Amino acid sequence: MAMRECNPSDFEVEEEEETPSSSPSSISSPSSPLLYIDIDRHVAFLEMMYNLVPYHYQSQEINRLTLAFFTISGLHLLQALDRVDKDRVANWVLSFQAHPRSRAEVTNGQFYGFHGSRTSQFPPDENGVSAYNAGHLASTYCALAILKMVGFDLATLDKESILISMRNLQQPDGSFMPLHVGAETDLRFVYCAAAICFMLEDWSGMDIEKAKEYISNCQSYDGGFGLSPGLESHGELENISCNCCLSDTGGGTYCAVASLRLMGYIEDDLLSKNTSSSIINVPLLLDWSMQRQATDGGFQGRANKSSDTCYAFWVGAVLRILGAYKFIDKIALRKFLLTCQSEFGGFSKYPGGLPDIYHSYYGYTAFSLLEEPGFNPLCAELGMTDLAALGII
Ligand SMILES: [Zn+2]
Repeated sequence: MAMRECNPSDFEVEEEEETPSSSPSSISSPSSPLLYIDIDRHVAFLEMMYNLVPYHYQSQEINRLTLAFFTISGLHLLQALDRVDKDRVANWVLSFQAHPRSRAEVTNGQFYGFHGSRTSQFPPDENGVSAYNAGHLASTYCALAILKMVGFDLATLDKESILISMRNLQQPDGSFMPLHVGAETDLRFVYCAAAICFMLEDWSGMDIEKAKEYISNCQSYDGGFGLSPGLESHGELENISCNCCLSDTGGGTYCAVASLRLMGYIEDDLLSKNTSSSIINVPLLLDWSMQRQATDGGFQGRANKSSDTCYAFWVGAVLRILGAYKFIDKIALRKFLLTCQSEFGGFSKYPGGLPDIYHSYYGYTAFSLLEEPGFNPLCAELGMTDLAALGII
């Protein structure tokens, strides 16, 4: 997938087919779930995605880098990164970076990060002005993450353009817009900005104090985090999620806790060291997070919702960062996740459904958190393998 330019024939849609963003999970799988994790089938599933994105993902064309992140990082979690041509992937990803024409342009209000796909790379107008620069924070997070996975040295990037222009996206309340023209601002993009600064090893791209204040203001009365202050605990990364999961809780909480961890405000394995945080209410957060494991063993995004594969990561990673993952019922969670494993490889949102790349990826991260044999360890706060996070390829 990552190697091909868009070809219209990739996206021929048969109208009677369901799309993955509508209801892939509503179609019953024809046979019983496997009782073990079948690594080979999952690698085959991801290799298919790597070579050619199925036409069902037409509506996700604008998020092509995100799809590539799920595929390549998934292969890395499954210890199968050798299936990827690393140099070609690096060159393909680099081709999406928005470049200023001069140093002066870096402060013109636009964001010189990465575009999500070819279709958002508009050429400059007759005066050479790129009025439609669509560099996006989530695409930039995915681009940098992929580059780290394939061993590209991020120190060779023009990180100044990314970081200086990224400051333009931060709002007076500390939140971030994902791109330079009018867009929503919330915790999802604070997380993207924090992850970008962390990966580039340079925090000049944001006002950390303001971001910290914004995050602490998002903690709700129940201990979880809303997407913005005063809202019900909500949401996750826009470009790293399916729409059907956007309205649930655990992702917003992940964005808050992982951002604070990346910024250095939450000590690793907080609970084991018997320390606390003056920024957020940890006992209340722990209570809320533990209550998200449902009676079927899976994790839900918020109270009274069905268990869903992706929340095994969004909430599980929060518990891992806090040092509380040992308190969950791992056997029950593993059983639940296996009911979401597809016979075709990949994972579905709910038991018995057809797989999609989003829930497949978070199924892999969940099994990595469970320390399943055959999986590389996960860096919970970056959402990728420890090896990639440490730059060991
Ligand atoms: Zn989900």
